[in-house]
Amino acid sequence: METELAIGDVTVDVVFKDIKNVHLSVYPPTGRVRVSAPNDMKLETIRLFALSKIGWIKRNQRKIKSQARETPREFLERESHYLWGRRYLLRIEDHYDRSDVLLGHKTIEMNVPKGATLDQKRDLLFDWYRVELREAATPIIAHFEKVLNVEVRRFFIQQMRTKWGSSSPAKRSIRLNLNLARFEQDSLRYVILHEMAHFIVPNHSARFVSILDLHMPGWRIIRDKLNYGPLTEF
Ligand SMILES: [Zn+2]
Repeated sequence: METELAIGDVTVDVVFKDIKNVHLSVYPPTGRVRVSAPNDMKLETIRLFALSKIGWIKRNQRKIKSQARETPREFLERESHYLWGRRYLLRIEDHYDRSDVLLGHKTIEMNVPKGATLDQKRDLLFDWYRVELREAATPIIAHFEKVLNVEVRRFFIQQMRTKWGSSSPAKRSIRLNLNLARFEQDSLRYVILHEMAHFIVPNHSARFVSILDLHMPGWRIIRDKLNYGPLTEF
């Protein structure tokens, strides 16, 4: 069984397990907080426990977010980059008078002008991810518009530090994290469904969860992979 608690502005995922003691963890890359608690522990007890640790939680979230700001990617030949959950080796040709990105069987090939800077290479690759993500997201959004009977007027793709997506039900718009292009497309499907379900239910209540259950029965596994799985930085 699982649920979540709001401790001020911190959301705590609570998972009940067959264990004796409470475990508290803060996970990269987004600073997600999870408490594993014994099956018979009362939610109020867990709330008080989490509240007593709020300083520790926030300290660790700050650490995780400041680490995430470092950019380890150097856009070097044979560096690993991901698209839709598959790993590719980067190839860079730097004697062109134009820029483009080609996806090969096992390579992402970037053709750039001679002397292209790190920023230029990064921008080129991010633009390419953006196009990939927009192309993949469009039919998924259309699908969920039909089955949820809601309309998405606009969707935005952004680099987001702490969230996979967000939505504005009033404006009928959603935002997707550019980084989703690096994960399997199931992750993108889940985030789109989650954000669009907020058009119907603004919070994460049982009604909201039932929408996810109905349209994507395996969503919890996908969510956990996104929130707790390893994430190679851009
Ligand atoms: Zn949500």
